[in-house]
Amino acid sequence: MTTLPPKADLHTPMRTTFDAQRRHASKMALTSADQRIERIRRIQTWIKIHQSDIQQVMYDDFRKPSAEVLLGELMALHAEIKHTIGHLKQWMKPQSLPTPMALIGTRSYFRHEPKGNVLIIAPWNYPFVLTIRPLVSAIAAGNVAILKPSELTPHTAGLINKMITALFPPEEVAVFEGDADVSKALLELPFNHIFFTGSPAVGRIVMAAAANHLASVTLELGGKSPAIVDETADIKQAAGQLAWGKCLNNGQTCIAPDYLLVHQSIKQPFMQALHDTLTGMYRPDGKPVEASDSYARIVNQPHFQRIKNLVDDAVNKGATITYGGRMNADQNFIEPTVLEGTTDDMRVMQDEIFGPVLPVLTYTNLDDALHIVNQREKPLALYIHSRNRKNTQYILDRTSAGDTVINDTLVQFGNVELPFGGVNNSGLGKSNGFFSFQEFSNQRGVMQRDFGTMKFIYPPYTEKVKKL
Ligand code: NAD
Repeated sequence: MTTLPPKADLHTPMRTTFDAQRRHASKMALTSADQRIERIRRIQTWIKIHQSDIQQVMYDDFRKPSAEVLLGELMALHAEIKHTIGHLKQWMKPQSLPTPMALIGTRSYFRHEPKGNVLIIAPWNYPFVLTIRPLVSAIAAGNVAILKPSELTPHTAGLINKMITALFPPEEVAVFEGDADVSKALLELPFNHIFFTGSPAVGRIVMAAAANHLASVTLELGGKSPAIVDETADIKQAAGQLAWGKCLNNGQTCIAPDYLLVHQSIKQPFMQALHDTLTGMYRPDGKPVEASDSYARIVNQPHFQRIKNLVDDAVNKGATITYGGRMNADQNFIEPTVLEGTTDDMRVMQDEIFGPVLPVLTYTNLDDALHIVNQREKPLALYIHSRNRKNTQYILDRTSAGDTVINDTLVQFGNVELPFGGVNNSGLGKSNGFFSFQEFSNQRGVMQRDFGTMKFIYPPYTEKVKKL
């Protein structure tokens, strides 16, 4: 296990590990698909054996319900592992490309080769899957890797460290636990690729640091993901999906619907359905939400205070809490809270909420709703609830988002075949299955001449060549 010395000396063990990994990278690059699969299976087996430990550490970190660890972390991770194991041989095969007539006598293909030394920096909200899933892809692509889990979920970070130390020599995969200082020190090293999951603000810091070494980056960021519920939507179904999407992991989900845009004509029944669903989910027996074992907590005091401030600011500026609103600072507890009457000058409509607070806005003209979406940064996810294909297509054609789900929420994370990730402020690059494998690989073009040559294009240039 890597234990870190005081801050001033942070660089020494990192540099030592980094150098050892750099020396080892060429060996990893030569590993066969079977050898990489064997490494991935180590992870798979460890997770199966230690499932209850994984659930326990996340409960210790922020009372994440064990069912949510299964649903939001382990199912997705197992799916990724199974998919990668099943497809890796195919992914590693060189891919032939067509040849233009002018280049007759040659053939072209590209092969995926590992980027080399990679750094994976993870957030706290899905602290296990968002650290280990990119690692699976990094190994699949033949890289050596350093992992930096989030300091805000220390129990999970400790378990990840224990797992990696048990499964891999440090010259192949190593973990450095710690806060932003550890992250910054790692970012000074000349990694070939950095896979960062976290906030857009820190994403900018990571990209600036990567520029020093011209390291490539994958940035899985966040932002305000809207959900549009039009007049044709299945009201009950949409309300259920959005309530779940908002409250899973206590709203601390990068692709959670951040705010809703609901057609005015269905507002009343939709709000009723939303309130009923929330009560059914977290107060089925009429007891306070605190008693529910299906409801996580806000990760720490600063985040609790940040979300409370967003609600206070909105209420002070005229918004109304129409559902929930109770908070308990001792437990970092915030009840599912629905806000109406929010306006653009409120911080809740400016910052990513990242908590169980849901502003609901209404619209009568779809273009007005799209204007609200498009005046903000491009979101990580955009949800459309509609039974009208024309409306759905209209929205898709006039907005941009990392991913879009029509008539559901959050489920995009579950399909490993789908590119997952943001666009600009919500992210750069894509993950999931083959897309992740690609992020950790250099697509190296190879052209081979088998016969002939192109002497006619060499100087001195003939009239024929000058007229080509
Ligand atoms: P964060 O950006 O604060 O931290 C992420 C990681 O960066 C942590 O490991 C942290 O130690 C490190 N870090 C923090 N400050 C740093 C600095 N100044 N320099 C270098 N490293 C630093 O994000 P978070 O609070 O852990 O996670 C929440 C954010 O992540 C939200 O915006 C959410 O939408 C986003 N997110 C995105 C995805 C995705 O797949 N797109 C998934 C989960 C979370």
